[in-house]
Amino acid sequence: MRRVIVILAVLCVSAAVRFGPLCSGNPTNRRRTSDSWGQGHYGATRDTRVHKGLDIICSDGSTVLAPFDVTLNGKLTVYRDQSKEAINEGINLSGQGLCFKLFYVRPYKTSGSVKKGEQIGTMLPMQTVYPGITSHVHIQMCDRSDPTLYF
Ligand code: ZN
Repeated sequence: MRRVIVILAVLCVSAAVRFGPLCSGNPTNRRRTSDSWGQGHYGATRDTRVHKGLDIICSDGSTVLAPFDVTLNGKLTVYRDQSKEAINEGINLSGQGLCFKLFYVRPYKTSGSVKKGEQIGTMLPMQTVYPGITSHVHIQMCDRSDPTLYF
């Protein structure tokens, strides 16, 4: 019985987590649906793999915001491919018991903590690499699970 109660408590805590606005100009976290390059939902098919994140619309050059109080855990490199260098940056974050990554963002700083709604970086020029795509921040959980339930 004790074990059941503990498990229920954990489920309730995680279900309550919701991402606040990630991108200036998109206060409701509107999602990328479908464009000539693909679809933005978790599990969408790609050429040789499966999309393991969720894409939230964000125009090139927009300011990216902390979705809740977060700790900054360093920058990341999205691609090894030099042709995609213009959008090759991102940041590792944690908060609310979640560990996740944001792709295509140039972070203002890479350590310390930031409050919900504060500026954490700039959306990189995705149109220069993927002309016509719905520019977006890609959210990926560290364990590659589905982030959609937090939106
Ligand atoms: Zn994505």
